[in-house]
Amino acid sequence: MQEKLHMSRHPGTDPPQFETRIHAIDGSNVLLDSTYCYPRGGGQPGDTGLLSSENAESEINEVLPGDMILHPIENPELFETGDSVICQIDVARRNAHALMHTAQHIVSAIAEDLWGAETVGNQLTVENSRVDLLFEDKEVFNPDELVDATNAIISSNLAVNVHEWERSRILEHKQMRHTKFMHRIPSTITQLRVVEIEGVDLCPCAGTHVSNTSSIPQIRFHGKKNKGKGRIRFSYNFE
Ligand SMILES: [Zn+2]
Repeated sequence: MQEKLHMSRHPGTDPPQFETRIHAIDGSNVLLDSTYCYPRGGGQPGDTGLLSSENAESEINEVLPGDMILHPIENPELFETGDSVICQIDVARRNAHALMHTAQHIVSAIAEDLWGAETVGNQLTVENSRVDLLFEDKEVFNPDELVDATNAIISSNLAVNVHEWERSRILEHKQMRHTKFMHRIPSTITQLRVVEIEGVDLCPCAGTHVSNTSSIPQIRFHGKKNKGKGRIRFSYNFE
């Protein structure tokens, strides 16, 4: 069983360089005994980086999910199963994603609290991020109100806590958000990671986060699009 260290490390910023072994190579994908790399998921891009052994090095393209996390590399022919390798994650890119992702928790929580708007999709990048919101009546949406309320939370120096909770505790919790997807997670996984922004948000999440809202820059309205009945795509970036 591969150790997926991005799940146990918090805050999800500044992932360390790590040493491990190549478990297998499948086409251009390298499987590692253990990895700190974040695999694409939940609207957050996978990490990129550099893989090196004694004799070779290769860029790691966007890391992808799987039973074992996939590290697609440019030059798989330079490596062999069993090689001892060092993996360096692109830390600046990861940290930018952690900031954007933590901001998205706040945006989604506020849209729900202000208008009952559910987050039905999101995609973040280093430059800007978007959240798809589903409204009963989308006429009520006011992007400035969303931005101002989000920035007020960001400025409040709130701790971002990470918990490992049993499924039943998660499903029974009155303040818990975003539990609809939980049935898709295999029942053999009895504990899930829950992310809490104190007094603002509480939801199961496997993304990467900062440890306090004070490290997040203020957000700025980037655009909105109508995405069909009741749906608005809200985009933001950082000031
Ligand atoms: Zn998250």
